[in-house]
Amino acid sequence: MKERARILVVGGGYVGMYTALRLQRKLKPELGRGEAEITVVTPDPYMTYQPFLPEAAAGSISPRHVVVPLRRVLPHCRVVVGEVTAVNHAKRTATLTTLATDEEGTGPEQLTYDEIVLAPGSVSRALPIPGLAEHAIGFKTVEEAIGLRNHVIEQLDIASSTRDPAIRDAALTFVFVGGGYAGVEALGELEDMARYTTRYYHNVKPEDMKWILVEASDRILPEVGPDLGRYTVSELRRRNIEVRLDTRLESCADRVAVLSDGARFPTRTVVWTAGVKPHPLLAATDLPRDERGRLKCTPELTIDGATHAWAAGDAAAVPDVTAAEPGANTAPNAQHAVRQAEVLAENIVRSLHGEPLRTYSHKYVGSVASLGLHKGVAHVYGRKLKGYPAWFMHRAYHLSRVPTFNRKARVLAEWTLAGLFKREIVSLGSLEHPRAEFELAAGGKPSDESSDDPKGSS
Ligand SMILES: Cc1cc2nc3c(=O)[nH]c(=O)nc-3n(C[C@H](O)[C@H](O)[C@H](O)COP(=O)(O)OP(=O)(O)OC[C@H]3O[C@@H](n4cnc5c(N)ncnc54)[C@H](O)[C@@H]3O)c2cc1C
Repeated sequence: MKERARILVVGGGYVGMYTALRLQRKLKPELGRGEAEITVVTPDPYMTYQPFLPEAAAGSISPRHVVVPLRRVLPHCRVVVGEVTAVNHAKRTATLTTLATDEEGTGPEQLTYDEIVLAPGSVSRALPIPGLAEHAIGFKTVEEAIGLRNHVIEQLDIASSTRDPAIRDAALTFVFVGGGYAGVEALGELEDMARYTTRYYHNVKPEDMKWILVEASDRILPEVGPDLGRYTVSELRRRNIEVRLDTRLESCADRVAVLSDGARFPTRTVVWTAGVKPHPLLAATDLPRDERGRLKCTPELTIDGATHAWAAGDAAAVPDVTAAEPGANTAPNAQHAVRQAEVLAENIVRSLHGEPLRTYSHKYVGSVASLGLHKGVAHVYGRKLKGYPAWFMHRAYHLSRVPTFNRKARVLAEWTLAGLFKREIVSLGSLEHPRAEFELAAGGKPSDESSDDPKGSS
C-alpha cells in the first residue's frame, strides 16, 4: 500500500454511505495510523432510505426515521456537507462548494484525492412540458414527501372551506405522472391516507376526490412483472383511481393538467415521477459516459479506462454479468446500489493492497411495492404475492434493509404504535415557514410563496 491514500466519496446516498461504512471498517488500522483518509462530500448530512418515502408521505413513519445521520454512522470519515461541482480526474482534483464557501464569497474549494468514488445518484428526468417546472413536484427526497403530505391534507382543508365549486374540484384532483414504483407507491399511500383523513371532514367524502395516474407506456410497475402490473391496475381502479395508460401529460400550465388523450383536469397537484436521469455533475467530469450520460464502468466497478476512479448506483452503467443478452447494464435501484457499494469498497481495499479485484455479479431477485396500508404487490424469488401478504412482506423486507439497528427499532416502534392508535391526519405545512407568524407580528411582509403550490409551501 502506498504511504497515504486519500479517498474521496462523492455522494452520501446508498452507494456513498455503504462504501464509506465498509471502507472505514476494512481500513481501520490504516485510518488509525494516518495512512488512509476518507472524505464523504454530500449536500445533506444524512442518507435517505428512499423506499420509505411513500410511508413517510402517508405519515406511517416520521421523516427523521427515514434518514440516517452520516456523522453518527461514519465516525472515522470526514463528512463534508457540500456539493462537488466538477472533477478533473487527470489532475486528481474535485471542485467543491459548501455553505461556508457560499457565505465567505471566496469561491469554490479544490479538493485533492488519490481515489475517487462517484456516487451522486440520479435526478428527476423532467421534460419541457408547459407549467411543469412551475407547478409540479418530484418524489425523490424526504422534503418532497413531507411537503406533498402537507399539501394533500391542506387541499382537503381548502375543499372543505371554499364555496367555489371550481376551487373545490381542483383542490380534490391529484395527478401523478409516471407508473414506476415511486409514482405508484406514492399515489397508493397518499390516496389511502387522504381517504382515511376525509372521515374527519363533515363535507368531503372519499368519492369527491379524483386521483389520476398517467403512464406513457401500456403497463405500470414493470419491476413486479406484467401479471402483477395488471393486478395493480385493477386494484387501483377498484379504489376509484383513474389509471390512464398510453397517455402523456402535455401541459400543466394555468393549473390545468392536459393529457394526450384530450382529457383536461383543473388541479393544484401534479406529481412528476416519470423516471430519472444521471446526475448533471457527471457531465462536469473528464470521465467517460455512455449514451445515457452514466459513467461507463467495468464489472469491477472501476470507471472504464480510468485508474483510481470508481462508480456505482444510479450514476453508473455497470455491466450485468448475469444477464442473458450481452451489453445489458444493471438497473438503477437500491438492490444493486447496496451490493455494488460492498464490492466497490472491497475492491478499493484490494487495489490499495495490490490484490486482484472482485467482479460485481447479482441476479435481480424481484421487487416489493406497497399500495397503501395493508395493500401491496410483491414478486420475489419467483413468488408472486398480492394484498396483505405482499404488504407484510414489503414491510418485513424494508425493515430488514433499512440501515442501522437504531432506525429499525424506531421504525418498528412507529408501526406498532400506529397499529394501536389512529393515523395522524394533521398537516404541519407551516413548519416550512417558521418565521411567517413573527414576520407578521413584527410588521414585516409575510413570505409571498403561494400556499397552494406543493413546491412552495402548503
Ligand atoms: C420514492 C422512491 C422509492 C424507491 N423505492 C425503491 C425500492 O423499493 N427498491 C429499490 O431497489 N429501489 C428503490 N428506489 C431507488 C433507489 O432509491 C435508488 O436506486 C438508489 O437510491 C440509488 O443509490 P445511489 O447511491 O446511486 O443514489 P442516491 O441514494 O440517490 O444517493 C445520491 C447521493 O448523492 C448526493 N449528491 C447529489 N449531488 C451531489 C453533488 N453534487 N456532490 C455530492 N453529493 C451529491 C445526494 O444528495 C445523495 O446523497 C426508490 C427511489 C425512490 C425515489
